[in-house]
Amino acid sequence: MASNIPNNNNKPGAPKKPKFGFNLYWIYALIAIVLIGIQLFSTFSGGVKKLKEEQELKNLIQSNNVDKIVLVNSKSAELYINVDSLKNFPEVAKGSFGGVNKGPHYLIENIGSPTQFENKLEKIKADTTNPKRFSNPVVLPEVKYEDRQNILRDVLMWVLPLGILILVWIFIMRRMGGGGGGGQIFNIGKAKAKMFDAESNVSINFDSVAGLDEAKQELKEIVDFLKTPKKYTDLGAKIPKGALLIGPPGTGKTLLAKAIAGEAKVPFFSMSGSDFVEMFVGVGASRVRDLFKQAKEKAPAIIFIDEVDAIGRARGRSVAQGANDERESTLNQMLTEMDGFETNTGVIVIAATNRADILDKALLRPGRFDRQIFVDLPDLAGRKEIFKVHMKPLKKLSTDVDVDQLARQTPGFSGADIANVCNESALIAARRNKQVIDRQDFNDAIDRVIGGLEKRNKVIAPKEKKTIAFHEAGHATVSWLLEYASPLVKVTIIPRGQSLGAAWYMPEERQITTKEQMIDEICAALGGRAAEDIMFGKVSTGALSDLEKVTKQAYAMVTIYGLNDKIGNISFYDSSGQSDYTFNKPYSEKTAEIIDEEVKKMIDECYVRTKKVLQENKANLEILAQKLLEKEILYREDLEEIFGMRSWDEGKDVVRVKETESGRNDHENKDQLNPPPVN
Ligand code: ADP
Ligand code: ZN
Repeated sequence: MASNIPNNNNKPGAPKKPKFGFNLYWIYALIAIVLIGIQLFSTFSGGVKKLKEEQELKNLIQSNNVDKIVLVNSKSAELYINVDSLKNFPEVAKGSFGGVNKGPHYLIENIGSPTQFENKLEKIKADTTNPKRFSNPVVLPEVKYEDRQNILRDVLMWVLPLGILILVWIFIMRRMGGGGGGGQIFNIGKAKAKMFDAESNVSINFDSVAGLDEAKQELKEIVDFLKTPKKYTDLGAKIPKGALLIGPPGTGKTLLAKAIAGEAKVPFFSMSGSDFVEMFVGVGASRVRDLFKQAKEKAPAIIFIDEVDAIGRARGRSVAQGANDERESTLNQMLTEMDGFETNTGVIVIAATNRADILDKALLRPGRFDRQIFVDLPDLAGRKEIFKVHMKPLKKLSTDVDVDQLARQTPGFSGADIANVCNESALIAARRNKQVIDRQDFNDAIDRVIGGLEKRNKVIAPKEKKTIAFHEAGHATVSWLLEYASPLVKVTIIPRGQSLGAAWYMPEERQITTKEQMIDEICAALGGRAAEDIMFGKVSTGALSDLEKVTKQAYAMVTIYGLNDKIGNISFYDSSGQSDYTFNKPYSEKTAEIIDEEVKKMIDECYVRTKKVLQENKANLEILAQKLLEKEILYREDLEEIFGMRSWDEGKDVVRVKETESGRNDHENKDQLNPPPVN
């Protein structure tokens, strides 16, 4: 999500009233009060003195002033002084509120056992029967037993562990709720939708979205529905309930949805599909309910659900992927809500996904997302527009920056990639302490977006460097010499990001691909390994990504595109996404064997052909590799010098190399020398 929209996380409409709610501090306060209470309580009776020494007890008993002794819970002893002689004991005479202390006056905390204690008393008495020293014979006080319940303590024994448990629970909840106030747990079922409305002045409108003219056209209609529903309802037309934006990531789906909100000036609730899914059962469904409720209150309004595939995945399929009842009930709730609101309530749901094929068919049924709008990767004209939009905020552009050229250099780039290039170019220019952003900065930014940072000082042994050079030269040679392979733009052995070398091609922007083109591309991808094989008689792990690509391509040709004679015009592709082929293949074991055989045969044939091409041009291959080792980067012109012009490129609009220095994402061959770590 772009950040230029102020967001407003509060529940819409509700003014912020001070919440007298559930808060951790209340618990702290409660505990504190209880503790203080206990303190007060225990000192309440006041004036009790603890007897620590045995002698003290002896003296008391011998003075004959003890009235009675109470053994509490057979554990401690309380001594009561005779009221009349209390004046002789000033230390305990006064009660806690200043009155006469009614006792107990002395306390022995631990008496061992009652028997021991009584024996002790007897002993004291026996010791004092010596009439020489004591005129009055000692009279032992009466001893009573008492069981006393400490209710407070018993309650505490209960409450404390419980309290700790609750504290821990709240702590976990707050963690999971992702920060926020203390009221988090009680809001877990609430939709966390971002809400933008007229006051939050969304600055994005359709002008901020470049290209995508058809999509904009359709969406403008929706804006019109929201603005003047009467025009349509007067004629008896039903206003659609939903539109689904389908397209690869970064092509501007979110941007379009925001633009609708900006244009229609209606409240806009934005939420991502994954926001609905929490680890608690029932949360997703209740969030859906809440979201629709909020939107209906503010109608006319737009609900935007990004990544709707997170909840809208076909039901039933989930069995194979580990059942997720939670997601299913979330989806069901959404269907219910969409069916539930009558047409013309003024709430329109817009969802975005890049995986329309896996969506549950129920979502696409009339009355739900009945409009499907495709948002594709931009074409040349589209890219040009997007470049213009994103160059606007760049302050100082050199005159040599040519938008047209840039657009041609970036086939396959999404809108987000282009936005990234523009920003990156400014960063690069700034790092070079330039005053203006020039063409070179843009070229470097494109390279960087494609391949990651250059790592010029990565240490590579000379022998490895040579292997890499021949590998890349192999790709370049084969793609140059095969008619249907995409023409090379640039080949380099400078490590960049994960790759150790790369050959970049400029693909045609074509809508369909022929079998010849696919075969030639497989050969070009095998060119790296074939060159190593021919030159060194050894192969390396450096061809990993090449082989992965080749294998996928070959299997697709046989099982999806029906380009294999033996399998025939059969496609096992399932556009509905309803069946799960990872577990049961839609063909017999026998067919599976044939498929594997045919794929292997095809790749083997390609490899033989590739090696043949390289053998026939071995001298030039070596020249190329040598030059690559010297210069590290070679361009189209360098290959023309070595191999001559590519006759079949005549009349085609090829991108001249040195002036442009770039290529495209998915048609490059990045070569990793070592396989990536396996988890
Ligand atoms: P999606 O939702 O399709 O994944 P976004 O809408 O989030 O893609 O696009 C990401 C960013 O790419 C946008 O914020 C915008 O800067 C840029 N972008 C994408 N498409 C366009 C376009 N057609 N015009 C202008 N900017 C675009
Ligand atoms: Zn390679």
